[in-house]
Amino acid sequence: MTVPDFRDYRLTPPQYDDVAAEYSRLTKQLEAAGSSEAAIAVVEKWDALRRRLYTWSALVNIRFNQDTRNAEYKKAREYCDELEPRLTNLAVAMKRQLIESPYRAAVAKRFGAHAFDLWKCDVASFDPAIESDLAEQSKLAAQYTELLASAKFDFRGESLTLSQITKFAENPDRAVRHEAAQLQWGWFGQHQSQLDAIFDKLVRLRHTMAEKLGYKSFIEVGYQRMQRTDYGQQDVERFRAQVREHVVPLAAEIRRRQAARLGVEPLMAWDEGLHDPAGNPKPQGDHDWLIERASEMFRAIGSGLDEFFTGMRARNLMDLNAREGKGAGGFCDTLPEFGMPFIYANFNGTERDVLVFTHEMGHAFQTYLSMNMPLTDYLLGTAETCEIHSMSLEFLTWPQMELFFGADADRFRKLHLTTSILFLPYGTAVDHFQHLVYAQPHASPDDRAAMWQEMERTYLPWLNWDDLAHPASGRRWQSQIHVFKYPFYYIDYALALTCALQLWVRAAEDRAAAMQCYVELCRRGGEAAFSDIVRSAGLASPFEEGCLQQAVEHAYRQLEPA
Ligand code: ZN
Repeated sequence: MTVPDFRDYRLTPPQYDDVAAEYSRLTKQLEAAGSSEAAIAVVEKWDALRRRLYTWSALVNIRFNQDTRNAEYKKAREYCDELEPRLTNLAVAMKRQLIESPYRAAVAKRFGAHAFDLWKCDVASFDPAIESDLAEQSKLAAQYTELLASAKFDFRGESLTLSQITKFAENPDRAVRHEAAQLQWGWFGQHQSQLDAIFDKLVRLRHTMAEKLGYKSFIEVGYQRMQRTDYGQQDVERFRAQVREHVVPLAAEIRRRQAARLGVEPLMAWDEGLHDPAGNPKPQGDHDWLIERASEMFRAIGSGLDEFFTGMRARNLMDLNAREGKGAGGFCDTLPEFGMPFIYANFNGTERDVLVFTHEMGHAFQTYLSMNMPLTDYLLGTAETCEIHSMSLEFLTWPQMELFFGADADRFRKLHLTTSILFLPYGTAVDHFQHLVYAQPHASPDDRAAMWQEMERTYLPWLNWDDLAHPASGRRWQSQIHVFKYPFYYIDYALALTCALQLWVRAAEDRAAAMQCYVELCRRGGEAAFSDIVRSAGLASPFEEGCLQQAVEHAYRQLEPA
């Protein structure tokens, strides 16, 4: 039997009338249900429909990102963008009907009560009145993706994409780093009016949607859309305060030591990517070599990752190299109709490739282990839960890093820990910034730039942009995809990292126990809320006082023994 190849995955695009007719049948069946069993049977039929629709939409999104210039993929994406809000309308009506159903308790008993909490979020963040706004939002997000994918640089004899030019950020030659940064940010500067305009439209559109839904601002809608059922703005605010108090000073010290090691005073923005005067550790081969080594790594780790990765390779379920016309960033999505996930990245030959790879494989492994969840809602956790799966695998693969970095593996591990600590202030700044932006939706692009500058002073006080005019004007966030496309999806990384660091500590003490805990975490997928999942894994919640401080200080001591 031949294994189906990703490139042959095809799904017939759904027609609205057909889906609406199916929903209408399900609605009537649920109304007429005379027993718990009958109601549960309707939910099962509904879920099969949702799995098909989810897979189709994920496939359309992956293909568009793979080649943003392909007319057929673009047309499919436009069709999907128009159709999706209408499908959401049908799904939300069904969720509302289930919440109000006399069989609610029986459905909750069969599928878990968590689904109802998630559905309440979905009901609270949707109304048919915002259907066309959602389609418009998707269009603007796609404009951003296409714009970034169109960036092209000729530098030192190479033709480079945005992802590729960032490899020079860690070039040992300071003049090269500076020149590459000037080119990269120069491109953003040339497109400033477009970027400002796309984001301005997105913010105003999102605020309009919030008003139509009856909220004061989009912040509340953002939290509902992220399906945050067990924590709110005040919890996140307290977490940000802990980052300011306990992490920013350590990060500043890391930057001071970095400057001293490099012999550059002061450290400039274009120096930040280089952590060692000898150059950052690099994977010792290209994409194909890395994939071979990854197979070896997963064979050594076991726990099911080996067979899983073999299956991914056999079906070509990855697209990891950067190339012209490809959408920026990295992601993983699940294709439940085919029983497998897909991972996506933009390799550029730096140590980041290994990190992005293990990160996306963490997501992929979770979706694989959760593939048979009884509801589509549980295939993925909420974002902060999902990022535990990915960030933990970055750390749990540490013992195998010799495969990629040889004698430089220790330097890699140290760099990974360093950049993890440094990420926390940045990630928190991105989150805080978005709260400011959506609290003042009528602010001008320059006002927003000033808000970001305030964030840099608060969370990244060492930062020195000097002659890089675009980021110096307060617009560095314009290269951060999430800010445009996934509002409020960012603190999730900081919360998850706080959990992944705990698992990293546990792995150093008892490797087998940590792996078992990881697999169990992945297996639970999205069947429960973040705090529940974290607690069941024996981890402390990042919202607990002292949790972040303890995790980060422990990591810091490994880097800089007293
Ligand atoms: Zn991730």
